[in-house]
Amino acid sequence: MNLEELKEKQIAQMKRKKCLPKTDIEVVLHLVEEVGEICEAIREKQTRKEFEGEIADILWQLNKICWIHNINLE
Ligand SMILES: [Mg+2]
Repeated sequence: MNLEELKEKQIAQMKRKKCLPKTDIEVVLHLVEEVGEICEAIREKQTRKEFEGEIADILWQLNKICWIHNINLE
């Protein structure tokens, strides 16, 4: 799966759950929150699985911003 396919799959899921982001600032705030969580994961020497989860969370928020602004990350 490439990044564009991942984004489309994610957006389809969000449409099904009726939780599409309404504004880009809302998504940026979530992105900042996730960046804070990855900092915490590093600082607290959390497991690799937790670290990977935080990376995925960041990509999730980044994909949402790209969807709102019609940007292809690739
Ligand atoms: Mg997180």
